[in-house]
Amino acid sequence: MTTGIADATLIIGASQAGVQLAATLRELGDDRPIVLVGDEPHAPYQRPPLSKAYLSGEITSDDLVFRTPEWFAQHHIEVLAGETIAAVDRHATGGGEAVTGSGRRIPFARLALTTGAEPRRLDLPGIDLPGVHYLRTADDAAAIAARLATARSLVVIGGGFIGLEVAASARKRGVAVTVLEAAPRLVGRVVSEQTSAFYLDAHRRRGIDVVLDARIASLDGTDAVTGVRLDDGTVIAADIVLVGIGVVPRIDLATQLGLQVDGGIVVDSACRTSDPSIVAAGDCAIMPNPYARGSMPMVRLESVHNALEQAKVAAATLMGQPADYRTVPWFWSDQADIKLQIAGLSTGYDATVLRGDPESEKFSVLYYRDGELIAADCINQPLDFMAVRSALGRGATVPADAAADLSTPLKKSVVEPTAPSLV
Ligand SMILES: Cc1cc2nc3c(=O)[nH]c(=O)nc-3n(C[C@H](O)[C@H](O)[C@H](O)COP(=O)(O)OP(=O)(O)OC[C@H]3O[C@@H](n4cnc5c(N)ncnc54)[C@H](O)[C@@H]3O)c2cc1C
Repeated sequence: MTTGIADATLIIGASQAGVQLAATLRELGDDRPIVLVGDEPHAPYQRPPLSKAYLSGEITSDDLVFRTPEWFAQHHIEVLAGETIAAVDRHATGGGEAVTGSGRRIPFARLALTTGAEPRRLDLPGIDLPGVHYLRTADDAAAIAARLATARSLVVIGGGFIGLEVAASARKRGVAVTVLEAAPRLVGRVVSEQTSAFYLDAHRRRGIDVVLDARIASLDGTDAVTGVRLDDGTVIAADIVLVGIGVVPRIDLATQLGLQVDGGIVVDSACRTSDPSIVAAGDCAIMPNPYARGSMPMVRLESVHNALEQAKVAAATLMGQPADYRTVPWFWSDQADIKLQIAGLSTGYDATVLRGDPESEKFSVLYYRDGELIAADCINQPLDFMAVRSALGRGATVPADAAADLSTPLKKSVVEPTAPSLV
């Protein structure tokens, strides 16, 4: 069966980036056919609530949908759900044809890869036991929710954002929770020591056990998981185990197409891959990021904001319009009643300033490199977050000696750039 027509834009991956890319093409006046293909058997939906409101039982799967079928119909965007693109053939004259796992053939004139990421798998004895879960999709979340409904104990392997969000949601449901983190601190890859220490205390205050420097030997159980065994012989009871140890970008199609991949699909600041006629955006893409100051190192971000912004840039590029990704990265994580908002990229910081008291669960950590503000973690401090995000966007800074002064709103301490911003 052949779907779509030869002058169609084919977008592979029907989630945050893919849907935004299609929407932006329409906003930019593109009236050519758009085919959006996703391998999940659902209409496109948002992932962030999966580990938060959905798992804690505050919303249902209906609340996850972010564009209705009517919206896709009105915008003449054909959505093929439950179809995996297995291979893509490029024609020498441009365009090509994709083939789905079910044998459907989709001709296209222009191609966008928004294939996202998938959970990094753990290799341990017992990892395949029923009751051991990963969380990326709505189906994963539904399976976890079903098990949590009768579970008394959850062990979370991995103290990153997904693991801690699931831990907090399960705790809200009255489940006993232990988080096992291999590193000496929580979310150590992303946040400062102050923020890590705060999370440790805050989750312990809410009744979650956290084991740092955890060395896991195996998962116990015969018909289903019953516990997690550490290498010192300790066994932690578990009716359910959640493995949250990060994600890996989905680059198989890009590799098959011969595109450059290096920790993600390599794109330039216009979201062009190494084949300039193919764009990529979202969790699958790695790009030179102007906010990783200095030499613009390649950065792959895993956030809704990044997926949306790269998708807009990729759409403009497909339309032949000049486009450049120049937006301050930002991210949020909700764990119980703790809202973290991060603005900027803290990689390579050489100093931090603590603003406020972590004990009060309202504070910010500002990151500096060579005396310049580069990022902030804001815990239940939305005004600090907005001030930093806006300052970074203008190339402005907050002098470190003013940043800790709680009596002055952060935005009043912002110092505007004297020279035009390089970002
Ligand atoms: C539980 C959870 C909570 C999160 N919370 C937050 C948060 O609080 N804040 C935040 O900023 N971000 C959060 N994120 C991250 C955010 O959801 C991602 O950054 C975002 O979804 C990336 O969008 P994307 O479109 O690039 O990729 P994805 O959402 O991964 O979508 C890619 C889609 O492509 C499909 N696909 C891949 N290959 C093929 C193929 N060959 N054929 C067909 N389809 C294919 C995939 O199945 C998937 O549906 C969270 C993620 C998860 C899983």
